Amino acid sequence: MDLQALLDDLAVEAAPLAAQGKVADYIPALASVPATRFGLALATMEGGLFGTGDWRTPFSIQSVSKAFSLALVLARDGEALWQRVGREPSGNPFNSLVQLEYEKGIPRNPFINAGALVLIDRLLTLTGDSLGTLRDFLRAESGNAAVEVDPEVAVSEASHGHRNAALAHFMASCGNLENPVDQVLDHYFRQCSLAMSCADLAKAGLFLANHGLRADGSRLLSRSESKRINSIMLTCGTYDAAGDFAYRVGLPGKSGVGGGILAVLPERGVLCVWSPALDPHGNSIAGVEALDRFTTRTGWSVF
Ligand code: GLU
Repeated sequence: MDLQALLDDLAVEAAPLAAQGKVADYIPALASVPATRFGLALATMEGGLFGTGDWRTPFSIQSVSKAFSLALVLARDGEALWQRVGREPSGNPFNSLVQLEYEKGIPRNPFINAGALVLIDRLLTLTGDSLGTLRDFLRAESGNAAVEVDPEVAVSEASHGHRNAALAHFMASCGNLENPVDQVLDHYFRQCSLAMSCADLAKAGLFLANHGLRADGSRLLSRSESKRINSIMLTCGTYDAAGDFAYRVGLPGKSGVGGGILAVLPERGVLCVWSPALDPHGNSIAGVEALDRFTTRTGWSVF
């Protein structure tokens, strides 16, 4: 199969759908990203790297980061995490306050904002530096030592982060945070503001396609832990449209409001697509389309 030609075709077919979406503006720094940007990269298990469009341009990874946080916490802490976070799809917006109160401060899953705050809190306790641990990991796996926080986005997030602060304070009131709220929020905002390209992210995610083995051959996760993360990506990774994403794409995926989506092709490789215009659930509208077309053309879904 000519993978490069396929990616080029998908860009031509999917990128125009961005006109039907809307760039996130609740974080003002994200609103200034042109909706016409489109990048798509595929990193393969054999070390191949293919890409098209803006696939080398860094963008705000936002919630795509949460798949990596989950891996880093599970690698260190195993099953203990599940005392503090559930693993069911939320069916509600990713920043819902009402669901968290109803469920007594236990987030429905690790990928909604409240769940990600718990991941960061735990990684802070385990390592003393949640952001630094994640950033070092992403640098090592992507092979890009320049992976860094975009300070403008981080400031913008922090100054418009009242809803995330409310989630964190509520969890603290329920006894579900171990570290000071301000510290957890600071690491969260900076983590979401990490800037990476499609090429960086596709390479960084390869351990998820490789049963938990890192780029240097060392083991981050057991086979079973890697399976679990992929399963949670499939069921919870694309906001309250995870069912629709599974139906259309048939792959574990994690999206972010910066317009990125990471999708795992077990034992084959990792795709990363970026197009900033979002559908009403927060998923990249052209990004989902490109992934849908990719699995339809190749037959490379998990089903
Ligand atoms: N930093 C964003 C927020 O907290 C992340 C949202 C996302 O990508 O899902 O709202």
